[in-house]
Amino acid sequence: MTKRESRPADRAPRTGRVELVCGCMFSGKTEELLRRARAVAPNEIVLVKHARDDRYSTTDVVTHRHDRHRAVIVQQAGEIVEHLTSEADFVGIDEGHFFDAALADVCTRLAERGCTVVVTALDLDSWGRPFATVNELRTRADSVLIRHAPCACCGRPADHTQRTTPIVEGNLVGGPEAFEPRCLSCWSPPPEDPID
Ligand SMILES: [Zn+2]
Repeated sequence: MTKRESRPADRAPRTGRVELVCGCMFSGKTEELLRRARAVAPNEIVLVKHARDDRYSTTDVVTHRHDRHRAVIVQQAGEIVEHLTSEADFVGIDEGHFFDAALADVCTRLAERGCTVVVTALDLDSWGRPFATVNELRTRADSVLIRHAPCACCGRPADHTQRTTPIVEGNLVGGPEAFEPRCLSCWSPPPEDPID
């Protein structure tokens, strides 16, 4: 289930593109990233993940269905350019909400160099608050694909992520053991105070 937003016509032209794939957890964002990456020659791909995202692997981008692809691991958005090869034409960045505020600038620069940049990201945190990094990317992206998962309670399209276990020591990273997709009617924020 997807909805597309078109890019405003008043942006400066660039030879590459920035494409944002967003939605709640379990909406197939990383599957979409790997599907697009596999349409590109392997030597032209650089996949990137943030070091904080260690749920399934510390070396690969991995979907919730355990499909995977080798990735470079970074701590800061500014490190991404250090990993580009001269052949790199497709840069895939998984879980963009983990990144710092420089991510949108980095993606824009890569697009100006001619790269197709695909970023997956949650658009809302566990409290239903937007991620500033993702909002900024959204304003810069040439295309935004919004994916939905079926709500775990009622089956309608879900755009929120429900925390289903207590948050221990501020750890907000997890998989099906700690989160499920919910529509707004079925979703409620966790009782813990939001952690900034
Ligand atoms: Zn529901």
